[in-house]
Amino acid sequence: MKAMVGLIMGGPLILGGLMMAAAASAQPPQSHHWAIVVHGGAGDIDRATLGEKGDAAYRAALTKVIETGAAVLDRGGSSLDAVETAIKMMEDDPHFNSARGAVFTSAGKTELDAAIMNGATMQAGAVASVTHTRYPISLARSVMEKTPYVLMVGPGADAYSVQAGMEQEPASYFFTESRWQSLVRQLTKEGKPIPPRPEGAPAKGTMIPVAQFEESADTHRYGTVGVVAVDRQGNVAAGTSTGGLQGKAPGRVGDSPIIGAGTYASNQSCAVSGTGVGEFFIRYTVAREVCALVQYKGMGLQQAADEIIQTRLKPIHGDGGVIAVTPDGQMAWSFNTPGMFRARLAEGGKVEVHLYNDEP
Ligand code: ASP
Repeated sequence: MKAMVGLIMGGPLILGGLMMAAAASAQPPQSHHWAIVVHGGAGDIDRATLGEKGDAAYRAALTKVIETGAAVLDRGGSSLDAVETAIKMMEDDPHFNSARGAVFTSAGKTELDAAIMNGATMQAGAVASVTHTRYPISLARSVMEKTPYVLMVGPGADAYSVQAGMEQEPASYFFTESRWQSLVRQLTKEGKPIPPRPEGAPAKGTMIPVAQFEESADTHRYGTVGVVAVDRQGNVAAGTSTGGLQGKAPGRVGDSPIIGAGTYASNQSCAVSGTGVGEFFIRYTVAREVCALVQYKGMGLQQAADEIIQTRLKPIHGDGGVIAVTPDGQMAWSFNTPGMFRARLAEGGKVEVHLYNDEP
């Protein structure tokens, strides 16, 4: 950084800067402690609706995910790799509303959104309304690293996905019976037409015990996934992947792939991934706002997250939550719903997995 300043300013500073850079390169890289936080969606998650089986299934899934992401960091991997690896695992897991297991639109299709951001470089990549990509988070990373763009959507993003060599899956791969039945219940309640079952969907069969929240009066269903991490270099990264809101109109895009709304990372402040009613998160630029409080007001991370989620969003029914980390290893989560699937682990610490709002 100092060398760069020297080069920009010219004169004797150049020499000073270069000497400092040479001295710095002789030192071992500064060692930070790694930390990782994961969410699997926020909403009307309580013991009664989840049941014992659902409770155990989500705790097991979150434990596996946090341990997998942590292993990447522990062997010196980057926060970006940890975020992508952990999210891919959740995208494969039908318990979550991302990729396999995504909710359906009102037309009975899955439209997937994802974003990833590198806090060290401020590079970001995102995709919205993609329909066949097995790992939307990897597609977002490809947009970030291999194109000059930040956000690609719809058929263009689907075409880029094929061209970039991403794994493609038929619509039936993303289908889960529980999500379908949940859509049918919602549309019935709303007096809307029920679309035909997706082509190639299996005949009505096994129900995977995904969280359904049948008694909820809300029209959206949860399970978006997100991961934030800081690595041993002190670099932060954030990623989010979702099927969006159940029963959403085709073409609706939420906050998850909008940089600064559902996903944001900067080494100057923090990395954040959000989950909840995306329209609020977009209008209140939630992820960026949390980081701005840290950066410009010098707030602690937990205080900043609470300020946005509890003080600003809760009174206006902006349901949802965030997870966050800072380059110096602070971890935080905050949510204003009955529950949020969540887990965290810092180097040398113990895995914490929680689902409800009466847990830490
Ligand atoms: N935030 C996501 C969206 O609005 C949904 C969620 O997090 O549950 O698309």
